[in-house]
Amino acid sequence: MKIFIETYGCQMNSYDSTAIIGILENAGHSIVKLPKDADAVLINTCSVRDHAEHKILSRIGSLRIKQRRANRPKQIIGICGCMAERLGKKLHEVSHRPDLIAGVDQYDQLPQLLENAVSGNVKVNVATGHMDDVHYVAPVEAYPVNNSHLVTIHKGCDYKCTYCIVPSTRGPQREKSPLMILDEIKNIVDQGGREVTLLGQNVTAYSAPGMNFAKLVQQVSKIKNLDRIRFLTSHPCDIDDELIDTIAELDSVCPWLHIPAQSGSDRVLKRMKRYYKVADYMRIIEQARKKIPDVTFSGDFIVGFPGETDEDFRQTVQLMRDVRYDQAFCFKYSERPGTPACKMTDDVPIEIKKERLAELLDVQEEVWQNITKDAVGEIWSVVVEGEARHSENSVKARSANNRKVIVDGTESQPGDLISVQITGSNGSSFLGKIVSAATMKGTADVNI
Ligand code: SF4
Repeated sequence: MKIFIETYGCQMNSYDSTAIIGILENAGHSIVKLPKDADAVLINTCSVRDHAEHKILSRIGSLRIKQRRANRPKQIIGICGCMAERLGKKLHEVSHRPDLIAGVDQYDQLPQLLENAVSGNVKVNVATGHMDDVHYVAPVEAYPVNNSHLVTIHKGCDYKCTYCIVPSTRGPQREKSPLMILDEIKNIVDQGGREVTLLGQNVTAYSAPGMNFAKLVQQVSKIKNLDRIRFLTSHPCDIDDELIDTIAELDSVCPWLHIPAQSGSDRVLKRMKRYYKVADYMRIIEQARKKIPDVTFSGDFIVGFPGETDEDFRQTVQLMRDVRYDQAFCFKYSERPGTPACKMTDDVPIEIKKERLAELLDVQEEVWQNITKDAVGEIWSVVVEGEARHSENSVKARSANNRKVIVDGTESQPGDLISVQITGSNGSSFLGKIVSAATMKGTADVNI
């Protein structure tokens, strides 16, 4: 069959979609670039917010309408990922009923589920449920650009943050073995990859016999010809001195930390069951700033969590200013069925949530403008990632500390290390002009 895969949500889903490509190709299917050319459309879904799930339901509806108009009655629609895991066979009851449903640990079943959907012999074409020892490996050749690769190192999460749906959609934390991770990365490097991002709901909690996350990173850094190691996402409770020292001491570990704060108020953090206080969080930021040259930060915030007062919100604004994040992903709280927060009274009116979100985004924009103003004139080393989307004769590139730069007037190729002078910014990217095209490929040595 010809299969089109559409991916929503986080990088874990991007990785899983690549793994799905491998499973389906091994079973003799092929992947196509447009839904209109497909015998089956698989949607890899996200459940993190109510809005994300509504988007999927309307996407199923619009695909069904297009199928009718184009007279493709036999085209199969399948739902994979977190929403499939959370809702399971209930998804068969939605108005534009999908033909198959595969939860996050059930992608090996996809060839069978597709066969069932074609034959129409199975009424409830659903596979869900968590499997402890199922870990996928995405095939290297399925990545469009071969110098940067995602590598999922574990799945699930053992924290129970009260707002979060992940423990029920992705299950408890289960580790891919260090051997499997190292083999996967060696294979990537053998096939020309130079950069990996270690992925997990909370990579910093990685724990295998004799191996915590810092030690895993140290092992990964020994792989010859691997130039850059990034990781996300982290939990403040699991970032220790050993990890900060590892980032500081190893050239190939990129100086960028994504540390979700969620709130700047101890009172709210307690209700979220985040197990740290703002002072603990700031200690990590200060330690990282002290020890890791050129370190940058990104983070996540939720505004309007049940019980959040104006004073709590002021403290969140203050944290945003104190940390000076390069990027902050901010969202209004939305109830997720089955989470502990769902039992709390969602007492912050939607209008207030919207106002707080707008204010926080304005503050982040102000922080970002100051960061970019300070950077103008500096010379950075960046690695080219591909053509820039909206500007001709330009490439997009990235510094080791995760700053995106659009570089004008260069024919540099993905993987090239080049020096650029920063001239300004545009949206969430810096703008730069080429100073020299480095001939070597190696760790971006950022001069900030
Ligand atoms: S640590 Fe992250 S993934 Fe785990 S429960 Fe908390 S918010 Fe969800």
